[in-house]
Amino acid sequence: MPFDPSLDKAAELLARLARAAGASPDLTQGGGGNVSLKLNSERMLIKASGVRLRDVSPRGGYALVNCGNIRRRIASGPCGEEELSGFICAQALPVKGMRPARPSVEAGFHSLLNTAVIHTHSAYANILNMSAEGPALARKLFPNAEFIPYRSPGPRLCAAINERAAARGPQIFFLANHGLAVSHAGMEGALELNAAVNETIRRRLALPAYPAVALSPGLSAHNAAALARYGTAFMAANILSPDQALYCGPDALEGRGDMEAVNEVLTALFYILDCIRGRGADPDVPFQRRNGLV
Ligand SMILES: [Zn+2]
Repeated sequence: MPFDPSLDKAAELLARLARAAGASPDLTQGGGGNVSLKLNSERMLIKASGVRLRDVSPRGGYALVNCGNIRRRIASGPCGEEELSGFICAQALPVKGMRPARPSVEAGFHSLLNTAVIHTHSAYANILNMSAEGPALARKLFPNAEFIPYRSPGPRLCAAINERAAARGPQIFFLANHGLAVSHAGMEGALELNAAVNETIRRRLALPAYPAVALSPGLSAHNAAALARYGTAFMAANILSPDQALYCGPDALEGRGDMEAVNEVLTALFYILDCIRGRGADPDVPFQRRNGLV
């Protein structure tokens, strides 16, 4: 792998990737999404667990890990959930001048991909990832993309991506009921690929503009109006992603919790539902039954 910048330079580049992925709530909501950058085949910078993408800076919010060890552990065979997260944490390396940071659990699948990785919970990609018609339509729009059935972030998602990540060229992964991951040998290439995939979906599906997410101590007026339209019973019966299960429970729908994250996740969810319905399609409801979310 020819790319081998100094750690300081790599941290600056990672912060740039994080800004591109985390600056707007149509691509990332709450603490979702992740970016990583490999310095070489054995070292990778990745957003730290519990840090929002927009808070990653050259001075913090990321971890340095031995991605070679993580890659070899995943390739060596099945691994339990706690075993893998423990293994990933043990691969964190000290960075001078920084407090130790816990790498994101998604460091597993990032280790398997090309040099620069941008993973978002793009509302545009999730229209395809969360509708019954989506996978067939996505295959038409992106014939070279990989489509990964829903797997919880952890060993099962890593195993599924490991099977398809052999090619070292530009890669596009649609993660069912989850999001989008793109990887590229260069950082500019990853930024361009991420922008191009989202733009292609917006243009080819003639999607409406994404609504602004208002800061509000409770449910935003936009989300309250959408919730009144869909109804809480519909929301409980149509859980489309772990983000929805995590952020949009009964308390959140009554305006309690981390309302900045809740309003971002709900705005994305209502946008996705409106767009799916607008196409005369159906949300992928069996998802929740297959995955025990209800
Ligand atoms: Zn994710």
